[in-house]
Amino acid sequence: MRHNNKINHLGRTHSHREALLSNMAVSLIQHKRILTTLAKAKELRKYVEPLITKSKEDTTHSRRVVFKKLRDKYAVTELFNDISQKIGNRLGGYTRIIKIGNRLGDNASICFIELVDYNELMLKGPKQAMAKTRRSRKKTETGLERELNSTDFVPQNTNDKKRLSIFEKYATNLMFLKENGFINIEMKYDKTYICPICGCQFSEKSLDQTSENSLTLEDAPPKSLGGSANVLTCKQCNNTCGYKIDSHLVSRMKELDRVKFIPETENDIIVKIDGVTLRGKIKVEKDGTIKILHSIKNNHPLQLGEIMEKVKKDMVIDMNFLKRNVIPENLEYALLKTGYLLFLEKFGYSLILDNCYNLIREQLLNPEKRIYPMGFWFKPLFPREMNGVYFVCDKGLESILVLFTLNTGLSETMFGTFLPLPINPLKDVIQKIDAKIQKEKTFPLTLYPQEQKIADYLSDKGNLAAMYKWIEERR
Ligand SMILES: [Zn+2]
Repeated sequence: MRHNNKINHLGRTHSHREALLSNMAVSLIQHKRILTTLAKAKELRKYVEPLITKSKEDTTHSRRVVFKKLRDKYAVTELFNDISQKIGNRLGGYTRIIKIGNRLGDNASICFIELVDYNELMLKGPKQAMAKTRRSRKKTETGLERELNSTDFVPQNTNDKKRLSIFEKYATNLMFLKENGFINIEMKYDKTYICPICGCQFSEKSLDQTSENSLTLEDAPPKSLGGSANVLTCKQCNNTCGYKIDSHLVSRMKELDRVKFIPETENDIIVKIDGVTLRGKIKVEKDGTIKILHSIKNNHPLQLGEIMEKVKKDMVIDMNFLKRNVIPENLEYALLKTGYLLFLEKFGYSLILDNCYNLIREQLLNPEKRIYPMGFWFKPLFPREMNGVYFVCDKGLESILVLFTLNTGLSETMFGTFLPLPINPLKDVIQKIDAKIQKEKTFPLTLYPQEQKIADYLSDKGNLAAMYKWIEERR
């Protein structure tokens, strides 16, 4: 039994735990405030506070002692030069933990841990808003500790306005769903936005881009593939799975254009002539003429000259495209993210708060692991008008199919991604659908009536009730 054992091992071996706390301490010193789980924050506090105390005595010895723990010279400098000055007259208690709620996936308690003396400086701007909040709180009839935030955020530019209108759209939807008893969720603010990726709740204040973990614009599909901003994700999530995974999809789509010899494209190639390898470019002109260009820059000039002599008419030349650094998994997760966010756009929070979507959220936050079942996407040959979110009705295959088109500016490709419904495990569904498509060589699925495409699922009670009923009948 673990009597008198106050150390939380955080489910890690000793060295793993030390490494984790060391990394987190560095982040805290750099950013002054980080988002983490409550358990980790409590352990971090015990880890970092002695280091801060140590920094009050600026000697080579204490710097070395601290470096041994942090392993980051910039953090050590920041700690001894800057942080130690600010906290000089405190006798401990340098950090503050602010609980912000539970994570949607595993219900873990999430909080901010911050350096106290920095918080005051950071909050200088929003202080007025805080005072306003307190006054209006008394006015709320429910007596609940809610923040009235209609005047919290004043848009300054076009992007601010965009963010505010998206915020309003989904916050209204969430309120509507709760008031009509469609979902049961404890909302932290009168107007609440839930980040679809981490499931954390945000108030209108988070639209302020200077706030810690602000809400940022997200495009589904990615902007460079024809999408435009339609949802918000928090900065943390955007850093983990925003541009990083989208970029793989974008470069792959552009690469596919080049490989298809679409006019006005250029592609790096490797050519083999007479056993000699040359690097070059293949250029497709506007009129379709294909040119292979070799530059002196990429090749040895003498060798290039020698080889060019040997090139004759009708000669067969081996050519390979130079591969770009695309991680196939990330490319797939970008498709998953696009499908998931389009699903949010169409159905609001009516379904995505269900636990069965944790699978997607977990996958998007961990692009290096494979969590979501393989084979969830395909390239259907439907006309562009088919773009939309559908329910697959076939018995045992009930799922959601999101169809969307990616546009590189030179070509268009339609993609379909399957998302789960809270009825049956997605893995089985995908396997069955895949087998069916392989066997019948056509698209053999029955989709929920066409009128669903134009139906409003954000604020129409009738449509929502019908949708929930349809799902319940299939349980
Ligand atoms: Zn988030």
